[in-house]
Amino acid sequence: MESMMNENVYAQLGVSDQVYRFGEDVLAALRPRFDAIDQVAEYNQAKVIAAMQKNRVNASCFAATTGYGYNDVGRDALERVYADCFHTEAALVRPQITCGTHALAIALSANLLPGDELLSPVGRPYDTLEEVIGIRESACSLREYGVSYAEVPLREDGSIDYDGVRHAIHERTKLVTIQRSKGYATRPTLSVAQIGELIAFVKAIRSDILCMVDNCYGEFVETLEPSDVGADMVVGSLIKNPGGGLAPIGGYICGTRKCVDRCAYRLSAPGLGQEVGANLGLMTSLFQGFFLAPTVVSGALKGAIFAANIYEKLGFKVVPNSTESRHDIIQAVELGSEQAMVAFCRGIQAAAPVDSYVTPIPWDMPGYDDQVIMAAGAFVQGSSIELSADGPIRPPYAVYFQGGLTWVHAKLGILMSLQKLVEEGLVSL
Ligand SMILES: *Cc1c(COP(=O)(O)O)cnc(C)c1O
Repeated sequence: MESMMNENVYAQLGVSDQVYRFGEDVLAALRPRFDAIDQVAEYNQAKVIAAMQKNRVNASCFAATTGYGYNDVGRDALERVYADCFHTEAALVRPQITCGTHALAIALSANLLPGDELLSPVGRPYDTLEEVIGIRESACSLREYGVSYAEVPLREDGSIDYDGVRHAIHERTKLVTIQRSKGYATRPTLSVAQIGELIAFVKAIRSDILCMVDNCYGEFVETLEPSDVGADMVVGSLIKNPGGGLAPIGGYICGTRKCVDRCAYRLSAPGLGQEVGANLGLMTSLFQGFFLAPTVVSGALKGAIFAANIYEKLGFKVVPNSTESRHDIIQAVELGSEQAMVAFCRGIQAAAPVDSYVTPIPWDMPGYDDQVIMAAGAFVQGSSIELSADGPIRPPYAVYFQGGLTWVHAKLGILMSLQKLVEEGLVSL
């Protein structure tokens, strides 16, 4: 009976009985994994609530402040909540941090001085950091300010080249940047345990080297965060995991008091630091989003695993594969053709609560050699904790799929993507 009801409701959204049943068959085998994800969410939910209780979050924390924002109790409480949750001495959590790239740029430029070297021991970092660092020439890059950069590529199998890292470290090496998520590359995402090993290795060579982790898309996927395994700073975006879909803007840096103080001076001004920065009435969204984040992340993870299992069963290469353990919320599906990428993205778009009637098409996005297609029907522009998919139109024609504020919405998106592929004759069930 119940399953009949679901079929009817999905038919109204454009999902055929055949696609729905294919999805249910795949899903039946995933229940034990979903239970494990729920347990991680339960643990992380408790961690967030405990941090909120310890810091006595109350209605006055939700009041708007303006101007300088002196004595902003809500802002200060939110930063203590983040610090307690990530087990760090301090945190900078601000709507004035406009995105993840901005947060990373602050963390790097605040803690690197002329003559210092930045080292990435996990290969090339996320695209937008190339200009921050000066790998691609850019005004105001770290390079322009006399900070040099070195990187050690990952080995063929995605593992860390420890000998290479040892050789790359010298007396000017000041900060090591470790990107947890694969981002839009095909390397494996690093687990928190792997990050911990790498940090221990670096600190054993020189204990004064700062270790920063780009934590984007990784928050709450595991019970530990990189700050639990020795990172001096963890950095991320509030329109990804920790904003829980409610934060309309923002970024965070959690870490040692010394590092975070410097970040605050870089964000505002030397001498002012964390004392200024009005919350502009965003505190309810930032607190409530953080409160919801563990559950939202668990839904996104279920969606990623569901997608991996659906598309692997149909013969496509998926990264991570259908059974691998998860360390971020991103799922890549290699669809093999432009037509299939377009169909997939149209399905995701058609499942959205916002802009569902829009048809995504490949376009020439600034900064990219190939055309890019994107599907997103989000409440917050560019929010990738909301259901979204994108990818460059080039072999192996991979779409990167992520997010979903609820598991059932992620499920609908994946079913719709399959529906479009079936309708175009690109897949037969
Ligand atoms: C998204 C992302 C960034 C940059 O964040 P924006 O908010 O898009 O600026 C940096 N690193 C990784 C790994 C990311 O996934």
